[in-house]
Amino acid sequence: MVMGDLVTEVDVAVLGGGPGGYSAAFRCAELGLETVVIDAGHRLGGACLFEGCIPSKALLHVAAVLGEAERAKEFGVGFGEARISGSAPMMPSGFAVGSDRIMDSTGALEVPEIPEHLLVVGGGYIGLELGQVYAALGSRVTVVEMMDGLLPGVDRDLVQPLARRCEKLFAAIHLGRKVSAVKDIGAAIEATIEGQAPQSFDRVLVAVGRRAVSDSLGLESTKAKVTDRAFVAIDEHCRTSDPHLYAVGDVTGEPMLAHRAMRQGKVAAECIAGRPSAFDNVAIPAVVFTDPEVAWCGVMEAQAGREIKIAKFSWAASGRAATIGRSDGLTKLVVEAASNRVIGVGIVGPGAGELIAEAALAIETAVTAEDLAVTIHAHPTLSESLMESAEGLLHRSSP
Ligand SMILES: Cc1cc2nc3c(=O)[nH]c(=O)nc-3n(C[C@H](O)[C@H](O)[C@H](O)COP(=O)(O)OP(=O)(O)OC[C@H]3O[C@@H](n4cnc5c(N)ncnc54)[C@H](O)[C@@H]3O)c2cc1C
Repeated sequence: MVMGDLVTEVDVAVLGGGPGGYSAAFRCAELGLETVVIDAGHRLGGACLFEGCIPSKALLHVAAVLGEAERAKEFGVGFGEARISGSAPMMPSGFAVGSDRIMDSTGALEVPEIPEHLLVVGGGYIGLELGQVYAALGSRVTVVEMMDGLLPGVDRDLVQPLARRCEKLFAAIHLGRKVSAVKDIGAAIEATIEGQAPQSFDRVLVAVGRRAVSDSLGLESTKAKVTDRAFVAIDEHCRTSDPHLYAVGDVTGEPMLAHRAMRQGKVAAECIAGRPSAFDNVAIPAVVFTDPEVAWCGVMEAQAGREIKIAKFSWAASGRAATIGRSDGLTKLVVEAASNRVIGVGIVGPGAGELIAEAALAIETAVTAEDLAVTIHAHPTLSESLMESAEGLLHRSSP
């Protein structure tokens, strides 16, 4: 022990106070275990609270308010020109990637001024969410994505309405291209998009994914195993190969989402307390908080690997969508042909992130298309689109 170190005996030490860590710690304490949380940062809350979910959604809300004010003109309601006033949350300083004009998502959430021309590298959810924020605040936004579509890996029917919206909102979208060179030329960044002449941007946001931080934990002196992508390997009880060590959250792999981390944290705590608990959830909802929102859970069409039936309900037929002037949404059901069980749901449209909760419950509790179709949904609401799509599927298979 060196001066300043503190040795304390506790039942459970939780390393990291993000959503995974604090959920585990709360559950451990509830179960009567003496628990301590240790975090390398100065505050508890992790990436979610300070550089992820919460500040990005606060900024997206600002963007949504600006968008609604614009759309209100269609209903004959006008506002003066919007003024932007420093309400974005304070963030710890981001990582510099060669130049302070080049930001990661943390830096993008704390930029004090709005760049005139912003280059977003990466058309995944973080790039699109923050790209839309900056576009709403007045930046000309150029997005470059090396795959051939935005939101790679996400169901194409769901991506289409978002892609159409992004085409209107952004100055340019380059798909199937990479940014091959970046140079700080003082007053701007000169970036070369493959196949194009160099262009100047005031700032660049690099949003090409996240990596697990497993190298600072001292795991080399334990029996825990780390995968080739630096994820800590765990079983369904969130136990590592070292019997005294459990791991949850982003450090254990994809999907890197706060709500997965929270559920895993509770499972780990219960297993530590000797309870029969497992991370055996079949549906982990994913939400892209863009306009329109994109949300899905369970098994989507491309991953089904078995005989399935698909139902799509266009929001052009939704009364509620008409009342809010947003008929561009879609609700899509994936149903297992043999059992008629709903195994996947995708929704694109305003409020999709809220609507997906019903779908997660439906999948988790093995609901059939009939169950969904005969459940009374309030009218006029967007939730009717789940019932309508199930009805459509049933009427199609048995007239
Ligand atoms: C811009 C952005 C937007 C996002 N939006 C969403 C969203 O809308 N919805 C969603 O579900 N997810 C979102 N995420 C992802 C979400 O933030 C993460 O999935 C979530 O924070 C993971 O929680 P965690 O507890 O595993 O890790 P973290 O939140 O990263 O917490 C880890 C904690 O461990 C600490 N730590 C690290 N190393 C050590 C060490 N050696 N010793 C002690 N402490 C240590 C860190 O300081 C940190 O506090 C977003 C992420 C970003 C970047």
